[in-house]
Amino acid sequence: MTKAVRRILVTVSVINALLPAVAWATGKKRPVVPVAPIDISRVTDNAAIGCIDADVAHKLIKDYGLEMGRFSGSTELCDSKRPGKKMLNAILMLDQGKFGPTARAGLDRQMITTDYATYFRQRIGRVVFDNQCGGTSWVLACVINSNPVMHVEKPYFDDDMALALQMTVLVHEARHTEGFPHYRCYTGGNAGKNGACDLSYEAGGAYAVEVEYETRVALNGLNFNPVFKTMARLFAIDRLNNNFVTAPTTKKPALFLVDQADSHVVVLDREGHANELSDVVLGKGRLIGRDSGANLMFEDPTREPMYLDYYARKLFPQTAVAPVVGLTMRNYATSWSAAKKQNLVDILNDAAGNGIQIRLFKNQLEAAKGLDNAPVVDLPATETPVALLSTLPCLTPEGASVGFYVRMASGAIYQIDTSNVPRRAGMSRVACTWPQDLASITRFSGKVVVLDGEGHLSVLEENGTRSPFPGAPGLAARRFTHAVAAELVPELVSDLVL
Ligand SMILES: [Zn+2]
Repeated sequence: MTKAVRRILVTVSVINALLPAVAWATGKKRPVVPVAPIDISRVTDNAAIGCIDADVAHKLIKDYGLEMGRFSGSTELCDSKRPGKKMLNAILMLDQGKFGPTARAGLDRQMITTDYATYFRQRIGRVVFDNQCGGTSWVLACVINSNPVMHVEKPYFDDDMALALQMTVLVHEARHTEGFPHYRCYTGGNAGKNGACDLSYEAGGAYAVEVEYETRVALNGLNFNPVFKTMARLFAIDRLNNNFVTAPTTKKPALFLVDQADSHVVVLDREGHANELSDVVLGKGRLIGRDSGANLMFEDPTREPMYLDYYARKLFPQTAVAPVVGLTMRNYATSWSAAKKQNLVDILNDAAGNGIQIRLFKNQLEAAKGLDNAPVVDLPATETPVALLSTLPCLTPEGASVGFYVRMASGAIYQIDTSNVPRRAGMSRVACTWPQDLASITRFSGKVVVLDGEGHLSVLEENGTRSPFPGAPGLAARRFTHAVAAELVPELVSDLVL
């Protein structure tokens, strides 16, 4: 008999997220008496859960069919580095999550109408820790041949795996027990991979149900920590970007700026350029655009980068969301040495829509695609890199060029050849040099937007002239240190009018 195993994929462009997989099921119901309410509102990650009461743990183990004998650290109630405790933590969060009233709107299609804990218990009878999912290193979990058994694999318990993902994978796998397979991806970070995409959101498969769950946590969760909600939201965005054959959302461009006077981050929307989110004073640094917003990487390499969450209108220290956004940050992978992290100059994602990520260091760069090895290119010894660019600041007869470029302190600009990634990458100097009066260049809402050396925003026209940026009142008088464009997912940005 052929085993139908659907599993989880790591996506690279944004969030370090793996996806789950397969199965099917029987609809047995196991009525349970809820455990006494536990305050999960302070929980941001596994470490924050602390000890679980023994009686609570035993009830969860019984109610959710956890075969704890198969989990390392199965009797551990306090040490969240042990797999058995991590499994308990994820189940605890599933069990204790509370939600406000939901209605069919945005990404909430009411695909699951019971609470998620009940849904999971109805679909999954046993949870076991083994290696039955096909032997691929990135598999988190799977269901085989529609049996109501969730197989959990070693990567599910990696230290940099987020609790919010470990929790939502449970619902993803439960959905597979109803017979929803995955398909080959054609776009996004998983393009070309078999079994990493649902056909559409409307099809209501495992990714769609997972996103609906993550959306409810982010927008309707009553007792989740804001950081946890942010992480759930990031995972939803990652899935939307990378795990559907037909993209379910329309992205809205946003422009992120750092105010020169007080280091507030400012976010402008596409049309009126009127929205500003500047609750938190930061510090000098470089913005890194992501397909889920932006990060600020401080000039001071000892400071943890910050993730800007326009949904929560707050900034979270990178340490709080590292498991989710770690892929593109200074604290990237745990395998990076401290020296390598401190040598990171800039990161640029997907400039040409090809899912490639460029990581610029002081003396070399890496061109990464997916989980494959990233080819390394040495920089010329005579050059000092300043930043990565997705747009060439010098106009050609066709206008400004899009791609991956490195700007050097000398003014030289090099183009990165990513056409052979992941096998190899190259770099060559272009004739264009960096205009000395320019601080930033980025594309926003169909325009090439530049920030001059004094911090004024303007639009670079096709004829090479600069025209005033069509900004909100007072914008023209402000000065900024850095500008970067990113995209918002409006279905997940409830308090921004786009
Ligand atoms: Zn799956």
